[in-house]
Amino acid sequence: MKYFSKRLVWSAALLLFIITAVFTGKPWLEPSQNSVITVQAKPKSEPTVKNEEAEQTISELRAKYPTDFLLSGPAHNKQVALTFDDGPDQRFTPQVLDILKQYDVKATFFLIGYKAENNPQIVRRIQEEGHIIGNHSYNHPNFPKLPTSLFEQQTERTQSILSSLIGYEPSLLRPPYGAINEEQLKWAISKHFLVVNWDVDSLDWKGLHPDEIKANVLDNVHPGAIVLQHSAGGHGQDLSATVQALPAIIESLQKDNYELVTVPQLLNIDASINTDISK
Ligand SMILES: [Zn+2]
Repeated sequence: MKYFSKRLVWSAALLLFIITAVFTGKPWLEPSQNSVITVQAKPKSEPTVKNEEAEQTISELRAKYPTDFLLSGPAHNKQVALTFDDGPDQRFTPQVLDILKQYDVKATFFLIGYKAENNPQIVRRIQEEGHIIGNHSYNHPNFPKLPTSLFEQQTERTQSILSSLIGYEPSLLRPPYGAINEEQLKWAISKHFLVVNWDVDSLDWKGLHPDEIKANVLDNVHPGAIVLQHSAGGHGQDLSATVQALPAIIESLQKDNYELVTVPQLLNIDASINTDISK
């Protein structure tokens, strides 16, 4: 009787193990090991995209469309392109422009359509001072979450606002959060846009200390880098640290013999869409 119940307990335990194995596949693997594998799979230098599924798609799209969707320029020239997103505004964009002027540096500004509408004089100033302007949507939605028609409206409306102010149609499109889906990318390519993200992120929107912003740029910079900074933020967002960090970033890059160029210079392309190119 005693022997029988011992055997029964062991049989029950074995049965439980087999059932667990069948249902989970690997009952001996800690759940935390699964999470570690997922985290390690995330490339460090990728643009910040909140949704991991979207990020995978972004990497795949870059691999599939290597000449139309870029993060950086050629590494054979010691050049770097500074880019400033989410402007124009009346507070921070003019301060960024003052510093760029002081150092005689030309940069690329990815502007938001409705802010350009509200600050036409700043848009003109950006252009008059020799900087390049790119399209960064009308009001900063996450493109992959939009129906195609709304994505196209966001891009075209901004394109017409910008071209009416600066006299050319920007060839550069930077999707908000760096996020775009394949259908949207194909449409952008058919309209002769070059979709340009970045490969060095200052993370300046996070409220960091100027020294942290500086380190994020200088520790990761390399020939051909496209650096992401911001010349304006959301309502009430303080970008003083971006402005404070900028002179030291420029001085350090110039001291290291980097040439600071616009994105079209870095990529050797035209800043405006050549409407003569037939489809
Ligand atoms: Zn943005």
